[in-house]
Amino acid sequence: MTLTVRAGMLEHDRMNHVFDVLRAITVLCEPEELVELVVNKAQSLLEAAAAVVILRTDQGYRVESASGFDPGAVVGLESDSFRTVQEQLEAMARGGGGWEGFLGVPMVAAGMVIGALCVFGSPRGRFSDEDTQLLSLLADQVSVVLDNARLHQALRRHHQDLYQSHHHVDSRLKTVLEHMADGLLLFGPDGPLLQSNRAARTMLELGQDGTLGVEISVAGPGGWVDCWSLEMLYRLMVAAGPGAMVHLKVDSIGRWYDAVCTPSTTPEGLREYVVLLRDVTHYRRVEDLKASFLSMAAHEIRTPVTAIHGYLSLLLSGRLGDSAPLPGAVTRALQAMQSNVERLLLLISDLLDVTRMDGPGISFNSTAVDVRSLIDEVLEEVSVLAENRHITVKRDVPELGHAFWDQQRVAQVMLNLLSNALKFTPEGGEVEVSAQAGPAALVIRVADSGPGIHPSQHRLVFEPFWRGDHARQTPGSGLGLAICKRIVDAHLGRIWVESQVGAGATFIVELPRRLEQAAVVQQRS
Ligand code: ADP
Repeated sequence: MTLTVRAGMLEHDRMNHVFDVLRAITVLCEPEELVELVVNKAQSLLEAAAAVVILRTDQGYRVESASGFDPGAVVGLESDSFRTVQEQLEAMARGGGGWEGFLGVPMVAAGMVIGALCVFGSPRGRFSDEDTQLLSLLADQVSVVLDNARLHQALRRHHQDLYQSHHHVDSRLKTVLEHMADGLLLFGPDGPLLQSNRAARTMLELGQDGTLGVEISVAGPGGWVDCWSLEMLYRLMVAAGPGAMVHLKVDSIGRWYDAVCTPSTTPEGLREYVVLLRDVTHYRRVEDLKASFLSMAAHEIRTPVTAIHGYLSLLLSGRLGDSAPLPGAVTRALQAMQSNVERLLLLISDLLDVTRMDGPGISFNSTAVDVRSLIDEVLEEVSVLAENRHITVKRDVPELGHAFWDQQRVAQVMLNLLSNALKFTPEGGEVEVSAQAGPAALVIRVADSGPGIHPSQHRLVFEPFWRGDHARQTPGSGLGLAICKRIVDAHLGRIWVESQVGAGATFIVELPRRLEQAAVVQQRS
């Protein structure tokens, strides 16, 4: 922009006015003040009789600020057409002394016309190009500021909306957490209780000061641990590990809870722990009822079925009365009945085992067991089955010394694993039993070349009554592995399967050398 010296106002005076405006932009925070300043400066800089800022509104155009006019009469003047506003202002200007000359420049922000900066009445009768340039400069400055103010306002509104919706979500979340059926405890980094919900306060009968109102028993790897403070509960839950399910019981009120502890990190990087408690008393009761029904039914069925089995054996042996030898067809029918009755007896015995092992009162007797002999005896027992099915059984069992286990029960586990391996492996396949000694435990493996088990079913096979699709054609009750798991658990050992579909299955049992009787009794009670 070139500015020349002109009568009335020197160039540096004009520049000073422009600088005043630029300085004001950085100092004044209210856009209204700035608009007023720009209007004043436009009037004096261009030596005009009057100046106005007209802003575009949703309805049309509106005079925002004025200088040289009677502000009361002009500010707020509006119309849906710019031309009308301009004509009204010019009429007032004529009335105020017949000012000559009008100049208006658009105010543009973000590519949009947001209004106009206008001057009326030049001392020279018309405004020059230089005046236009100056006025445009002022209009540009004020446009930028007004646009920033608009953005700022939009941002503030957005922020307010965000705050309100966050506040809303936060209070909704608090309500949900407070009233949900599961109990919730939030522990700080070193165990202080930071928050609890209504369910947790009821379940644990928490006092105002966060003290436990009941004594809880917590199931740990070594049996039940009595816990009488929240701090102790916190430590036991953290020790169980993130996401591990921990069983709790409150004997005094006869309730059972399952608890899970999950760590979370605060924005400051501190560890907090959320403990969720679920009241499972109802499921426990149903389970107990189911177990006692099964146990009672199995007991009741066993007696008559045993009697039938006895009579069938007598009939088949020809020792019943002085009857003549049975015709072949009758013998075959009786043999079929006998083998079905034997299967029924096996199922009853499994049912009784699984229900007894889930309840109290089962005892495991620890005796010195020669491990290799135990494995050999079981192998001997299944040898006929292996021969019948043309399955090669390999054995890789070194001298392993003695272990202190319930011999009959561990033999039951081995028998079950080997019977399964022989049952599910197609004729002509292979089964291998191997064993090795670790520092504190013995590991026994039963591997087969059968159909294998999909990894998603590796846990399911140990559930009572679960049977895979491939087992449909094979007799069985789905209880064998559930019983194995209970026996191994009672010995504080582990049992699991490693397998892929089509690649055989390997069942692995890890048993500590000593069955700790005390721990077993404690765990079961
Ligand atoms: P059952 O043998 O009476 O069906 P188990 O509890 O012993 O009951 O086994 C449960 C299920 O696990 C079986 O029905 C079968 O689907 C699967 N399973 C067990 N052992 C094997 C094995 N060696 N190979 C393939 N699947 C097996």
